[in-house]
Amino acid sequence: MINLTDVSFGYRKQKQVLHGISLDIKPGLIYGLLGKNGEGKTTLLNIMCGLLFPDSGTCRVFDEMPEKRKVVFLQKIFILPEEISLPDVTVSDYINMYAPFYPTFSNERLRSCVESFELNMDDAILRLSLGQKKRVAITLALAANTQVLFMDEPTNGLDIPSKSIFRKLLGSFVSEDQSIVISTHQVRDLESLIDSVIILDNKEIVFNKSLDEISEKLNFRTIEANELALYSELSPAGKMGVVRNDSGEKSHVSLELLFNATISSKDIIKQIFNA
Ligand code: ADP
Repeated sequence: MINLTDVSFGYRKQKQVLHGISLDIKPGLIYGLLGKNGEGKTTLLNIMCGLLFPDSGTCRVFDEMPEKRKVVFLQKIFILPEEISLPDVTVSDYINMYAPFYPTFSNERLRSCVESFELNMDDAILRLSLGQKKRVAITLALAANTQVLFMDEPTNGLDIPSKSIFRKLLGSFVSEDQSIVISTHQVRDLESLIDSVIILDNKEIVFNKSLDEISEKLNFRTIEANELALYSELSPAGKMGVVRNDSGEKSHVSLELLFNATISSKDIIKQIFNA
């Protein structure tokens, strides 16, 4: 669906933000694009939807070059930016204004989102709180029902119940021919939602594996006092950490532990997955 080969990009010539990015995004999966603030997640999403152009390398989405911004391409992708700017109209006028741009727009999905997020279609958007505006923007993004959906930090501004509604809605919507890429630095928000993890660090993709592969190679569990772990941290439940999965038994993948382990022991993690 999406293929990037050796993509590099910098806003200024001397300062690269992304270096040698190669990536394959397949249909039917939800990808979590993780990275600290300022690592280039938004930049990468903007390259994939044609808002920024690579300095070198190639990016193809449905075999099209995103930067050409053809109508047939734009109809099939939706990007929900981190900072949303919404017009001074009612929720219903806003949805009616944008729905016609998307031939795949689903009224059924719209109804589900409106009901779950408890939106009032007659509300004036600019009088809504930040979290309510975000729910409106997410509703349009999900109802557009495009083949590719990019979401940049979608849970920022959402309260805890809305985050859980968001996860449920998205999880129930993804179909076999759709790809979803969600960027976040709040890794816990994507727990139990994503199928595949991409970690961006220091201009490069340092990790790109499916949850199945992760739970096959790593265990996430309590660490004994004198046990060596790839990464561990103290939590109210004791010392939690990541170890090699030598037993073959699969554990629930903690995205936060995985992220911290990858950032702190890149080479060891790479070795384990390449073995
Ligand atoms: P993330 O989404 O991971 O927080 P960004 O892609 O927004 O990261 O930014 C990556 C880097 O590029 C940061 O150092 C940021 O300051 C810089 N950057 C982002 N947008 C611009 C811009 N329009 N002009 C110059 N530098 C930018």
